Amino acid sequence: MELIPHFIAGAENPSGERRGPVFNPATGEQHREVAFASTALVNEAIAAAAAALPAWRATSLTKRADVFFNLRTLLKSRTTELSAIVTSEHGKVLSDAAGEVARGLENVEFAAGLMHLLKGERDEQVSTNIDVHSIKQPVGVVGAITPFNFPVMVPLWMIASAIACGNTVVLKPSEKDPSAAVFLAKLFQEAGLPDGVLNVVHGDKEAVDAILDNPTVKAVSFVGSTPIARSIYQRAAANGKRVQALGGAKNHMMVLPDADLGAAADAAVSAAYGSAGERCMAVSVVVAVGDIADDLVGAIKERLGGLKIGAGTESDTDMGPLITREHRDKVAGYVAGAAAEGAVVIADGRETLVDGDGFFIGVTLLDHVLPHMDVYKDEIFGPVLSVVRAETYDQAIELINSNQFGNGAAIFTRDGGAARTFEFDVEAGMVGVNVPVPVPVGAFSFGGWKDSLFGDAHIYGPESVHFYTRSKVVTTRWADPSTSRIDLGFPSNS
Ligand code: NAD
Repeated sequence: MELIPHFIAGAENPSGERRGPVFNPATGEQHREVAFASTALVNEAIAAAAAALPAWRATSLTKRADVFFNLRTLLKSRTTELSAIVTSEHGKVLSDAAGEVARGLENVEFAAGLMHLLKGERDEQVSTNIDVHSIKQPVGVVGAITPFNFPVMVPLWMIASAIACGNTVVLKPSEKDPSAAVFLAKLFQEAGLPDGVLNVVHGDKEAVDAILDNPTVKAVSFVGSTPIARSIYQRAAANGKRVQALGGAKNHMMVLPDADLGAAADAAVSAAYGSAGERCMAVSVVVAVGDIADDLVGAIKERLGGLKIGAGTESDTDMGPLITREHRDKVAGYVAGAAAEGAVVIADGRETLVDGDGFFIGVTLLDHVLPHMDVYKDEIFGPVLSVVRAETYDQAIELINSNQFGNGAAIFTRDGGAARTFEFDVEAGMVGVNVPVPVPVGAFSFGGWKDSLFGDAHIYGPESVHFYTRSKVVTTRWADPSTSRIDLGFPSNS
């Protein structure tokens, strides 16, 4: 069986007594296995990153930028190959995998502009003969821990900016679809990144804890589920590290009575079932306001029959399988639970049968969902769309703002004033106006509120430059030495 190795100091490394299975979710078969790093091996990777740090942070900005320009070309030319790797381990359809690579490319393009991003500020003559300037320097070795659902894009959210800022990195990708991270590390190497600047270690809690506990690691970026994000934040912060930990989500899409019905239904279907709902920005709740509810549910239902569920490698497939058999069964359990709690099942994904032993479930649409139901309260992370009905905008916004998560939220309306009020009111980090999945472009930063993010820095974009650098402020005097004198007073400006 093919073994997916670690990548440390520029070379593949198959070490690890423990190994984990990697499945092809479309067939249900284990087709690879991945080496799990011990604490000692993670420490070796961190040592490799620390050894590479002095030379990398001293590398000119022009040479650093070159790596990202080269990487952009390589990623574009190898997108098909990389997408196939993603589909073989994650299950998402090939076009979706290619879309993920394209969104990750935005972070590479942003990083290529590092000379502009790392500019400091300067004030001349703040006091007589005294100037002040600020510079941004790398934090050091960065730990990056990523989830299964975007095995290319989410690592790039972190490593592109971290490396551009002069840091070195140890990446711990999801053990469920780990091949893409090794592929990325090799592309970086081909693009000219010196060995040791980007290292990949695989594994589970042991590997993650080794990153969190190693004093050489100065900053940790994490993306994953809320309970793990919270614990990562606490442990890394207790160990004195800078940390950003992005968690789960329950994204609401409010549809006002004046919205374009067809556009809203198209958006709801695309955003709820794309990537089988395994997106942190997927819409999982539609809040239908006023008398649009019946028509909207009808329009969404009408569109479901046309969706093809099957292997992501087939060109006409709209939606692939879920990541594991256990996860598929858990999602099916939520559908059963919702029916038992009184939700009206308009479409039941459990009834969709796909040949073979893949981790498939069809699309589910639930109407008359109420806030106390588990299907509403929990992040399901599957192709299940709940419709909650609200009589007024005020009721709808209160529902959204009472939710524990605050990743994304969208409004569908033709009323600019209502959209502006929603933008002002809603407690979420990313807001869409007639856009159901408002993932910011690479020139902005990504992050949620409430239990969707622990820490204060959003990820990628300008906030990542802040997160991955330390500022230094330099005060300089160039004056005639003959004017020098002793002065025990506190330095004051003159
Ligand atoms: P997960 O939390 O199970 O795993 C994320 C990472 O943490 C993996 O690398 C995993 O190996 C590691 N991990 C798992 N259990 C751990 C433990 N006990 N201690 C230490 N490390 C542990 O998440 P997942 O299932 O891979 O990904 C799906 C989740 O990620 C969803 O909740 C989704 O909303 C979230 N997500 C959030 C965003 C965002 O930007 N907010 C983006 C993508 C995914």
